[in-house]
Amino acid sequence: MKSHYRVVVVGGGIVGASVLYHLVKFGWTDVALIERGELTCGSTWHAAGGFHALNDDPNISALQGYTIRLYDEIQRESGVSVGMHMTGGISLAASTERMEMLRSERSMYEAMEIETRLVTPEEIRELCPIVDVTNLQGGLYDAHEGYMDPHGTTHAYVGAAKIGGADVILRNRVVELQQLPDGRWSAVTENGTITADHIVNAAGLWARKVGQMVGVNLPVTPMQHHYLITEDVPELVALDREIVSITDLEGFTYLQPERKGVLLGIYERDPRHWKVEGADWDFGMDLLPPDIDRILPELSIGFERFPVLQNVGIRRWVNGAFTFTPDGNPLVGPVPGKKNYWVACGCMGGFSQGGAIGLTLAQWMINGDPGADIFGMDVARYGAFAAEDSYLKDMTREFYARRFVISYPNEELPAGRPLKASPCYGALKAEGAVYGCTWAMETPQFFAPGHSGFVEQPTLRRSNAHDFVAAEVRATREAAGMFESAVYARYEVSGPGAAQWLDHLLASRLPRTGRVRLAPMLSPNGKLMGDLTVSRLAEDRFWLIGSYYLQAWHMRWFDDHLPPAGVTLRNLSDAWIGFAMSGPASREIISQLVDRDMSNAAFPFLSCAEMQIVGADAVVARLSLTGELGYEINVPVSHQLALHEALTAAGRNLGLRSIGNRALDSLRLEKSYGIWNSEFTQSCAPGMSNLAQHVAFDKGDFIGRDAALREREAGADKTLVTLLIDATDADASGFEPVKRNGRLVGSVTSGAYGHFVKQSLALAYIDRDIATAAPELTVDVIGEARPAKILPEPAYDPKGLRLRS
Ligand SMILES: Cc1cc2nc3c(=O)[nH]c(=O)nc-3n(C[C@H](O)[C@H](O)[C@H](O)COP(=O)(O)OP(=O)(O)OC[C@H]3O[C@@H](n4cnc5c(N)ncnc54)[C@H](O)[C@@H]3O)c2cc1C
Repeated sequence: MKSHYRVVVVGGGIVGASVLYHLVKFGWTDVALIERGELTCGSTWHAAGGFHALNDDPNISALQGYTIRLYDEIQRESGVSVGMHMTGGISLAASTERMEMLRSERSMYEAMEIETRLVTPEEIRELCPIVDVTNLQGGLYDAHEGYMDPHGTTHAYVGAAKIGGADVILRNRVVELQQLPDGRWSAVTENGTITADHIVNAAGLWARKVGQMVGVNLPVTPMQHHYLITEDVPELVALDREIVSITDLEGFTYLQPERKGVLLGIYERDPRHWKVEGADWDFGMDLLPPDIDRILPELSIGFERFPVLQNVGIRRWVNGAFTFTPDGNPLVGPVPGKKNYWVACGCMGGFSQGGAIGLTLAQWMINGDPGADIFGMDVARYGAFAAEDSYLKDMTREFYARRFVISYPNEELPAGRPLKASPCYGALKAEGAVYGCTWAMETPQFFAPGHSGFVEQPTLRRSNAHDFVAAEVRATREAAGMFESAVYARYEVSGPGAAQWLDHLLASRLPRTGRVRLAPMLSPNGKLMGDLTVSRLAEDRFWLIGSYYLQAWHMRWFDDHLPPAGVTLRNLSDAWIGFAMSGPASREIISQLVDRDMSNAAFPFLSCAEMQIVGADAVVARLSLTGELGYEINVPVSHQLALHEALTAAGRNLGLRSIGNRALDSLRLEKSYGIWNSEFTQSCAPGMSNLAQHVAFDKGDFIGRDAALREREAGADKTLVTLLIDATDADASGFEPVKRNGRLVGSVTSGAYGHFVKQSLALAYIDRDIATAAPELTVDVIGEARPAKILPEPAYDPKGLRLRS
């Protein structure tokens, strides 16, 4: 052990091993992995070792595909066998709803260029003769599934890293971490103290504890998980090949071959946490006592689905622990507020995701950029709220219990709610608000006035809330709609250096005092880091508005780029709130609340100002996401209820009504407006996403300028278009493939029914060379090809006259 390393990786499970390997692979060889016991002695040693590329998040799916492709390479480089069995895998469907979901998923994977196919019960039986297919409708087959040896795989990563120069220090626990005044880290270990420029927390079952060593509470907790391994199964002994791996979604079990027997794992609906705070330090290669009574309901279904289990002995029960986060995805990246402290933990699928985590983290540490849109596993997708014990337990319990349960895009799940709510929660509920939540903040999805206790049916098709949303859209276009802006994040930037700093941070020109601009923010590689609006309230005082759920992510970016002096940055997201009101009557409504001229001449489109409303210094900006004349009215949280009452009273005779997220989605798609995480992501550049018009290439230097210029010169491969789909009772919702003559040419980013124009609409990235040809296209909606065409301009008010009226 040396006294100093560039990077110390804490933890020698599959994830830490992969991080070490990738750091070395990309050129950082002055690195060490420190392991408390032996390699794999956390969750890794007793994992079932199953892997698959499929994931609900296409970006994570792509990275899982990378992990699987990597195994040959580490085996070759290290000379250690990873014990790979590429059996292929099938997800079973025992209900019409599940079959429809699999059909829809197959199309989504096609859009991601992952080849899967639907299989009949007969084919399932052929590929896995021990499945009882009696009540099955079919399944989804993926050739790139299988299982491997956890021990061999970990040693292959580490072996290759050691050949490249990495040190591996075993039987030596890191007991304390301290940041030194010069920014380096001091790691106190059982065998002495060393320093490191960077620390990576890859401590698996102990990750929360290793977080707490630096004062960080990570939203990750261990949970129990069972599988059993049988004696040899005669039917498999007689077979001259391996059966495919099976996931019985309605049965809550998965099965894979294990020598000539099988391994059956269970995702029970009544799961248990284990050591929420992290495992004890002296926990070794131990198992937990099996809790068979608790998993019996699912086990019984498994024994019916695979009847051979009834006649064969059980060689081994395993009840082990591994970690979960609230959404089941890992925590990766630099921890906000802790310079050079990185995490690679919370990984529930080390054999599908370990390689991707190592790749992402190593690229991020070395190049300053994760290399792809990995928001779905970024540690900064959560705020402090997520690590609070009761929330964490509630969310992870729900995730585990629903691991194989169908989740519909319109479904709002109950765990961890309500956690955060605005002062108008009760008032909006009284108006019929049906809530969802974003970043734990309750947000109205739609209003069902006069239908107390209305329950929306979860579906892939248009739901029973369709008509409520239609009424909200109509009211907004014909009178006025009032949308609670709790889903906005607000940041104030002030001080003598504010303008100069923002001018460098944002790719747009800064607005004049009293004006607003749409301001893309770029990373050095020219990819989007935000689609903010910037309001200049005074020469040296600005407001930036973005998405509420991106707060921790944006604050980390801002903090990383803040100059040492001259700029004050305040996150006002939980201190300010308000309503975005829009529609032709909105001027008449707001005029009743303010003592100033709100005419188009006095307060035109893209104006902003502070004005007294309900006794508060409100910040008002004239713009809207609906495409109508509109005002975003922001007040301190304490004044929101009063604002709501005042708006309601002023709008009573003018047709004002409350609207929710669904209506906003329909309205913005009628205007072809993109939003973050659908049309705009970290993997998009401004040219392809139609944001280049807001980039001031000629204003001088700003972050990402050179790369964005290169994109402009080279031209993007893809372009964002609006599609009109000949749909029946279902609309696109995102990730559906767009085809021309059956050939994949793009994919949908978001879709909805345009209630005012009465058309099914979608935004999609498609190959640029065909976008101009006005081709005949199809979009697979729930797996069924529907005719579609490109709209040359937005479906509603293409000239934007109403916005400026
Ligand atoms: C029963 C079961 C079945 C599973 N089946 C599968 C499967 O089929 N497919 C799949 O992909 N995944 C499966 N998993 C999950 C898989 O095991 C995990 O995703 C994976 O092991 C996580 O690896 P890790 O490196 O993050 O954590 P761990 O394996 O827990 O490794 C963390 C390491 O950090 C070390 N450490 C912690 N603190 C310190 C410290 N302070 N100083 C030094 N060292 C420290 C620990 O000793 C440990 O070795 C299963 C898990 C279980 C329990």
